[in-house]
Amino acid sequence: MNKIPRNASIVFHVSAIITLSVFSLYRIGIGDYKHAGFFSLAITPLLFSLLREWQYKANVLQKQITLIMVSIAICYSCLYLGYKGLIYLFPTIFIYFFLFNIKQALLLSILYALFGLGFALNIESTPVIARYSIAIIDCIVFGALFSHIINKQKNALFYLAHTDELTGIYNRKRLKPSLNNAIESKIKHQTKTSLLLLDLDHFKQINDTHGHITGDCVLRAVADTITRHKPVDAEVIRFGGEEFLIKLPDTDGEHAVIYAEQLRQVISQIKLPGVSQLITCSIGVKELEGESLDEWLNASDKALYKAKNAGRNRVIQAP
Ligand code: GH3
Ligand code: MG
Ligand code: MG
Repeated sequence: MNKIPRNASIVFHVSAIITLSVFSLYRIGIGDYKHAGFFSLAITPLLFSLLREWQYKANVLQKQITLIMVSIAICYSCLYLGYKGLIYLFPTIFIYFFLFNIKQALLLSILYALFGLGFALNIESTPVIARYSIAIIDCIVFGALFSHIINKQKNALFYLAHTDELTGIYNRKRLKPSLNNAIESKIKHQTKTSLLLLDLDHFKQINDTHGHITGDCVLRAVADTITRHKPVDAEVIRFGGEEFLIKLPDTDGEHAVIYAEQLRQVISQIKLPGVSQLITCSIGVKELEGESLDEWLNASDKALYKAKNAGRNRVIQAP
């Protein structure tokens, strides 16, 4: 899962700190200063982690380390307190499924359970440990199931939010993250990325002549054609009505023009039943050269505009 909302994370921290503090105070009350001191120490990483969360500076790694430190403290308590320590395995095992991916969480929580149960054997009888083992296994299985269901729902939501219903390719929501990624990669690693802005020619005529349903079929056929002919790591986004954006990573302007020319030709060969007119497109190409997202898009749009003005059905590269 790897992502707990900030508010939920604060609740997790506060409840863990309160639990450990009460535990620690109780130990002081009964004169058990050794364990009281040990549990006060376990509160320290939690307080630090809470502070980072409060300051909007928290990261997953730091939370993972905190969880492991608290787990070590709980295992230690199992060694001297038996089942009184074991009961804390239940809430903490769930947190593994919030902070790690399913495989890591399964592995770590099984190890955690083995240590906790093994240490508790120090003072508990085998039947007690057997009962706790069964309950802890259930807890791990439910944690994994819960995590799996949430992940599936998250992926389904991501797909719904980022996919264009008509064509099945990315919708405009993907635009900013995708282009910003390329801009960041250019700044950090000097990678070359090119952008193709493709607009179908006289598409309104297709709608007017054959109707919107046929127009929709043409849009789907064009999206399919682009998807089938794109390089593996390229991203295709439906930019607007009959406009598509293709991001070509690791491609300079020169190679992007060669690809755009091939794509233009493949699209002009699309044949659909009942559509007599040729399906053509114009493409503007721009390699990223340190522009902002808007400047990059505007430059590709200008090149596309030039291609339209020069008579359509052609590729033009921005200077
Ligand atoms: P140009 O060569 O200058 O690009 O001309 P054009 O006719 O392609 O461009 P124009 O902007 O005049 O028309 C675009 C048309 O695309 C108008 C709009 O009805 C149509 N369109 C936009 N989205 C969809 C859609 O989802 N389905 C269908 N069938 N048509 C759409
Ligand atoms: Mg258009
Ligand atoms: Mg058009």
